[in-house]
Amino acid sequence: MNKKTAIVVGAGLGGMSAAIRLSGDGYDVKVIEKNSNIGGKLNRREGKGFTFDTGPSILTMPWVLEQLFASVHRRLEDYITVERVEPQWRTFFEDGTQLDVTSDLPNMLEEMSKVTNRPNRKLTDFLSYSQDMYELCMKSFYKYSIQDLKDLKKHHKLNELMQMDPMSTVAKSTHKQFNNPYLEQLFNYFVMYVGSNPYSAPAILNQLVYVQLGLGIHYVKGGMYKIAEGMGQLMKELRVDVQLNTPVQRLVVENDRVTGVETEGGTLHEADIVVSNLEAIPAYRKLAPKTSKVKKETKSLEKKFDPTVSGLVLLLGTDRKFDHLKHHNFLFSEDPEKEFKQIFEEGKPADDPTIYIGISARSDDTQAPEGKDNLFVLTHVPPMTGKKQKPVDWDAYREVVLDKLERMGIEGLRDSIEFEYRFTPEDLEALYGPNGGSIYGIAADKKSNGGFKIPSKSQVFEGLYFVGGSTHPGGGVPMVTLSGQLTADLIKEHESEPVPQS
Ligand SMILES: Cc1cc2nc3c(=O)[nH]c(=O)nc-3n(C[C@H](O)[C@H](O)[C@H](O)COP(=O)(O)OP(=O)(O)OC[C@H]3O[C@@H](n4cnc5c(N)ncnc54)[C@H](O)[C@@H]3O)c2cc1C
Repeated sequence: MNKKTAIVVGAGLGGMSAAIRLSGDGYDVKVIEKNSNIGGKLNRREGKGFTFDTGPSILTMPWVLEQLFASVHRRLEDYITVERVEPQWRTFFEDGTQLDVTSDLPNMLEEMSKVTNRPNRKLTDFLSYSQDMYELCMKSFYKYSIQDLKDLKKHHKLNELMQMDPMSTVAKSTHKQFNNPYLEQLFNYFVMYVGSNPYSAPAILNQLVYVQLGLGIHYVKGGMYKIAEGMGQLMKELRVDVQLNTPVQRLVVENDRVTGVETEGGTLHEADIVVSNLEAIPAYRKLAPKTSKVKKETKSLEKKFDPTVSGLVLLLGTDRKFDHLKHHNFLFSEDPEKEFKQIFEEGKPADDPTIYIGISARSDDTQAPEGKDNLFVLTHVPPMTGKKQKPVDWDAYREVVLDKLERMGIEGLRDSIEFEYRFTPEDLEALYGPNGGSIYGIAADKKSNGGFKIPSKSQVFEGLYFVGGSTHPGGGVPMVTLSGQLTADLIKEHESEPVPQS
């Protein structure tokens, strides 16, 4: 008897995760990817002896990857080596204050005592508040494909829903807890792991503080791209058919059911189900037939689900080491409220942005020639929404970024650059297709979507599912990898006929 068939559009982490799980569930799976390599935003670039991960540089919640590999009876450690990074971040403030973030409690308290009195109570209380929320999410958000409050209520009693601090935002709760500008700015920034605005994102995202301080942040030996290679190897072992350099051009629909896809050149690929790793809104805009139902759904999704921030990424190979920098560094803005207002409300890059610098060579000397550094410089900027936005002069904004870095202690940076490459929001959109060049998918916003994402099961067509940053549970490496797994569960529930094994 023939096996059921699945097509996955896109070989990002969400797509590969879904492909692996569906294969484990007995589907014959074909992954169709437009680019020449797998991994999507988890990508790599090399030049002049330097290697750069061009997307994610911080791995959190590695249990999600372990769970994926275990679902097909493999051990993650046989494919990649995950290492914990300490200190986790070095942070720099405009007034010269410098704080290291570490999961070593005594050291963290000592660091905090540079800017506040009696830090013990403040930190331990906040950590247990954050841990409680994370543990509640382990019962629901990280276990099932949740669509809305009605879904969430199936898994929690009222007292648990109240523990999620539903009336508050990330920034309100850090203010209540710390009432200290340095610590508020620092802890508010954790929500940028999912690209949202701390002043409007729901407080439940403060669980990211426990995710980082409690569970740790990690690096993958040889570079983060090894995660994609590990999944690629696993797909090979599972006989998933991966087709590269093959853009999908449209979804094939019969009687409101998706029956396959058409790729460039007019080739038709039939399947029982189609899983789109291209975000839901661009998938409806670009791949679905232009029916009134599709147009209505697209409009309603656009209204509720704004894209997260995008980024200006500068990859800088330098002729020297900047020894005062750690593996992960954040150089904060002077006025975070103004910074977030400019990015999220005014839709323009901040005059004085927070800048992240990752130097994987600090943990892994295969990433840069001896005595040199590989700086991955990420500045979050608004996505391209088209709404009242002026085009950005990226050459000029590069100077804003380099000026700030040199001003805040990276002296001689410009003179030291011997390799440079950059990605703008336009590049990110062209490369991977996310809405407006969004880095993390959908922005969590207390008012417009309550932190929920686009449903993984299409509301328009049967047989069509979505995975990745625009769907539950959201953006970032662990979340999109989880979305592939949770969507596979959803597919089991809805495509209920038993899958025949050949
Ligand atoms: C600069 C940057 C820094 C980041 N830093 C971190 C970090 O430190 N930690 C972290 O956890 N996360 C980070 N992220 C976020 C993380 O990389 C993403 O959330 C995640 O990789 C997205 O995976 P995805 O599966 O949702 O989608 P994508 O990776 O976008 O994959 C979508 C895939 O679909 C393909 N595709 C699109 N259209 C078509 C089509 N028509 N036909 C065929 N294929 C198609 C694309 O080419 C792509 O391969 C970062 C991202 C960026 C860009």
